[in-house]
Amino acid sequence: MIEEPLIRVANVKKVYKTGDVEVHALRGVSLDVYPGEFVAIMGSSGSGKSTLMNLLGCLDRPSSGSYRLAGREVAKMNRNELAEVRSEVLGFVFQSFNLLARTSALENVELPLVYRGVGGRERHRRAAHALERVGLGARLDHTPAQLSGGQQQRVAIARALVGEPKVILADEPTGNLDSQTSVDVMALFQELGQAGITIVLVTHEPDIAECASRVIVVKDGNVVTDRKQVPRPARTESPSSSGVSVEKREYP
Ligand code: ADP
Ligand code: MG
Repeated sequence: MIEEPLIRVANVKKVYKTGDVEVHALRGVSLDVYPGEFVAIMGSSGSGKSTLMNLLGCLDRPSSGSYRLAGREVAKMNRNELAEVRSEVLGFVFQSFNLLARTSALENVELPLVYRGVGGRERHRRAAHALERVGLGARLDHTPAQLSGGQQQRVAIARALVGEPKVILADEPTGNLDSQTSVDVMALFQELGQAGITIVLVTHEPDIAECASRVIVVKDGNVVTDRKQVPRPARTESPSSSGVSVEKREYP
């Protein structure tokens, strides 16, 4: 049996109307994403990346066309239905982290579960587990101001993970991070990808896109390139850190 795509976008158009002016932000985009894919979306400013991400994220609806997400047609759902699909299927990561200030890492990560009505103890347990998964098990009580940018982004990734999403959507998640921290965050995304989570990420940076298994380029509201690739490991094991060097090994 052929696996169903998790995301199936078919001839999606988005027209923004402001007064008499119409902006054709997407001009008929079609896209299938299968479970476990790691997709990087690239394109110059104004090409339609955010519009596409808002549609994929069920934050907005297309003007026309079809969008099936995890087997359900969402293009014509109302706001409440969209919110339900979002909380069931999707996790979001933003460039600016979007964490609540003066609120602990643990409480930030618990938030999506509060909206779902999960009880206090269970929330606590799941949020702590998500923070352990991103390497912040020792920082549960820290507020965003007490964390570095990379750590804040990892809290945001834990918040995206806590609802056990099928898809994580990330809009320029490394845009506010220095290059070493970007490497750490991309290594984490690759790890999540290997664990079976589908990732769709917008980036301007070619090195970041190299870490994905597929690159889609958007231009003037159209997909102009869509290719699969062998992902470059974000973190390359340095010879000195592996402990045992080849030369020291004894061969019988
Ligand atoms: P990108 O994220 O690639 O920079 P966007 O998806 O934000 O591109 O924008 C695509 C086009 O749609 C641009 O011309 C932009 O000005 C226009 N646009 C985006 N959002 C809106 C909106 N809410 N109202 C009107 N025009 C919009
Ligand atoms: Mg944008």
